[in-house]
Parts: sequence; C-alpha cells; structure tokens
Amino acid sequence: MQYLSHSFFADADASYDSADYVLFGVPYDGTTTYLAGTREGPDAIRRVTRTFETYIPDVDIDLTDIQFADLGNIEPESQPEMVVSQVEDVTRDLVADGKIPILLGGEHSVTAGAIRAIAPECYVVCDAHLDLREEYGGSPYNHACVTRRVADLGTKHIVIIGARSGTREEYEYARSLHLYTAEDVRARGIAEIIEEVLEIIRGKRTYLSIDADAIDCCLTPGLGTPEPFGITPYDIREVVRKIGPQSCAFDYVEVCPIDAGQTAAVAGKLIREFIACHWKENRMH
Ligand code: MN
Ligand code: MN
Repeated sequence: MQYLSHSFFADADASYDSADYVLFGVPYDGTTTYLAGTREGPDAIRRVTRTFETYIPDVDIDLTDIQFADLGNIEPESQPEMVVSQVEDVTRDLVADGKIPILLGGEHSVTAGAIRAIAPECYVVCDAHLDLREEYGGSPYNHACVTRRVADLGTKHIVIIGARSGTREEYEYARSLHLYTAEDVRARGIAEIIEEVLEIIRGKRTYLSIDADAIDCCLTPGLGTPEPFGITPYDIREVVRKIGPQSCAFDYVEVCPIDAGQTAAVAGKLIREFIACHWKENRMH
C-alpha cells in the first residue's frame, strides 16, 4: 500500500509500533451523486485540528498522554469496489497489529471495507440517509448502499440514528433494523436513545460510523448530500462519548469542505473526543 505524504492529524505523533489508535484517510468520492469534494475531507479535517488544544476539559484527558498515529491517505483506485478492498486490507493489517482503526472519509462507501475486515456484531451509524439501497447508479458499492452492504456482510445488529431520507422500500427494510430517526432524537432526546443502544450492543463487537450529514445541513453545510431537519453536533458528541468507548473501530465520513470549515471542525473535534473517551474507558490504568 502506498501512502501519500500529507498534513497530519494534530498530535498524532506516536510511532506506528507504539500507537494504540491509527488514523488513515481515504480521499475518495468516485460515486458521489450530487456535490463532489469529499476527497478533500481527510486533509480538511487534519488541517483544522491544528487549532485545537490537546486538553479536553469535559473528559479531563490530554491527548498528549495518548499514543496515536496518522498513516496519511491511501491512494484510492477509481472503482468503488477496489477502494473498498483497499480499505479492507489496511483495516485488516491494523486490527492484526492490535490497533484501533480510525478512518477519515471520503464518501461513505469506504466503510464497507472496514466492516469486511472487522466483521462486527453491531454497526451503529449516524446518518441522514438510510443508505439501504440494493444498488445505486449501477453499483452496489455506491455510498447510498453502504448500510445495506453492512447488513449483507452478516452484521447482526444495525442501529441507525438521525435518519430522515430514504425510499419507501428502504424504510420498509429498516423495520428489521434499529431505526432512530432525526425526529425520534428530537422528540425523545439523544440520552434516552443512547441508553437503548447501549443495551443492544452490550458485550458485542461494535463498529461506529459517523456520516457528517447526520447533522443538520444548516449547522454544518460542508456536505455532498445535504439534508435539513437533522440532529446536532451535541447529539453526535453524546454518541461518540457513550458509544465510542464500546466500539472497536470508528470512522467519520462524508465531510465535503465547501463551507467555511465548520463541518471539518466538528469532525476533527469528534475524532479527538473518540480517542480521548475510548482511551479513558479502555486503556487508562
Ligand atoms: Mn451515508
Ligand atoms: Mn448520508
């Protein structure tokens, strides 16, 4: 695997061997249907992290105490199924080396590769879209199909939080999953929903995926497929803080930096929250 030299995620200065967490970027937007640009997502996220303090007061953790590394970006092939294989290979290597993988998208289709490598029992995703199409634009690997692919790979428990867009068929399929719509989050509050999700995933290998468009596009407009009436950065932060520590891998996808930088800023902050909260609960002795 060839890595390109890019700017690196702030404070990711551990060596690979000593790192507990390893980030890598997948600058791919080959199946994007509306606004292109998520290929710029990984580096936009990295750049903004340079402005953040290493100390995270709410969890009382300083990131300088945590060993994490950034591999840079993979050089994606053109076809989505090939990119999925590339992501699978990298993720498999990281897991074999005992690392917690953190993937920066890129479009959501890349998540399927990480799921192939990890084969989790549970998949928790925050997304405006159900992503449950059988195929889209002629490809089953389109970003609009990723949650369906995750289901096809045998993932037993699928939890979708923040959805508000899908076809009638996708909504019918979603009845066999755990669906918490954006409206559910608004009506019930994220805390109550997270308690239910923690019951579902308790003791099971869980993968956490954040599609940036789960957040209302009026708050973070740097998105390839913007949807209004979404959940908030606070809601996602609660998910990252509570579900993150129970997860064995994490991705943050679909940041399309065509805004003033707020979408990448939220992503960068939440990736740092994931590392801090996961380490506090699992690695700190
Ligand atoms: Mn998605
Ligand atoms: Mn989406």
